[in-house]
Amino acid sequence: MGEDLERLKQRIPLLEYLQRHHWTGHRAGARSEFVGLCPLHEETHPSFYVNTRKNLFYCHGCGRGGDLIRWVELSQHLSFRQSVAYLQEELAPTSQLLEHTTGFYQLELHRHPEGIHYLAQRGVHDPALIEELGIGYARGGNLRPHLSTLGYSLELLLQAGLIGQQGQDAFCRRVIFPCRQHHRIVNLYGRSVGAAFPHRLLPRSKGGLFAWESVRLFPQVILVEGLFDLAVLWQEGFRNTTCAIGTHLTPPQLAQLCENRDRSVYLAFDQDDNQAGQRAAQVLAQRLQENRLRVRIVRLPAGHDPNSYFAAGATKSDFIRCLDQAQSL
Ligand SMILES: [Zn+2]
Repeated sequence: MGEDLERLKQRIPLLEYLQRHHWTGHRAGARSEFVGLCPLHEETHPSFYVNTRKNLFYCHGCGRGGDLIRWVELSQHLSFRQSVAYLQEELAPTSQLLEHTTGFYQLELHRHPEGIHYLAQRGVHDPALIEELGIGYARGGNLRPHLSTLGYSLELLLQAGLIGQQGQDAFCRRVIFPCRQHHRIVNLYGRSVGAAFPHRLLPRSKGGLFAWESVRLFPQVILVEGLFDLAVLWQEGFRNTTCAIGTHLTPPQLAQLCENRDRSVYLAFDQDDNQAGQRAAQVLAQRLQENRLRVRIVRLPAGHDPNSYFAAGATKSDFIRCLDQAQSL
């Protein structure tokens, strides 16, 4: 174990890891030290030091310090063992591949107006939100050459499901949302802008609830079916919205919702004509209540989901009214 840990830490220098996660520091004097603002606590004067020779950090503001694994423990609120697993997964080739793929699709979004048009049509128009969610566009046919120039093998692309057995891109003419867990991309969701089957995920776990790291801090949580529902609600300021991608919650997602018994959950599923969304909401509400959560079912006008409701002109106060009128089982 000890040897494995050393190898894990050597695979990426601490400074490089922090920079990848958007920490900026500058050289402190001529020594092998960098200093910048501490990401672990609020401060205006830089007191976070990274020693590149020892591969250690120390913050004179909050007094915390250590190595790469300690950094992950503190920044992601994970145990030691979880942090090791987290790093192993993050430094695995597939995780890097998904990061690069997402970055490429994000650039592509601005090269192909049909992606932006589709987002606008679905009521998602705030550029800052599009950037924050990492939304991109897959034109199809150009991902493989791009990833090959970055050195990724065809085998890895096949294994990740980005390329099909016939060599075609998995995502073609799709708006792409990266699904992150603890800030790491675990899957990609692609919504077709054409006639193809609307929803597509890579053949891997869909991960936990969307953006759970931030949503879990709210005492009231809104759960929606789709990422477009989430996007418009976030855009309207309902940052307490999360999504399971579909109406079925995996056991880890269910555990996330139930981790805090004082939580109220608003289920804002689709009001389908065939009652599928309503039935799914009832079943889930029952399960959550068995776990002693307070649950309310949000009723939207017939035929609507939160996304279409806003796209049809509903306002923030319209939705607040729906939340107020939401009923428990
Ligand atoms: Zn600090």
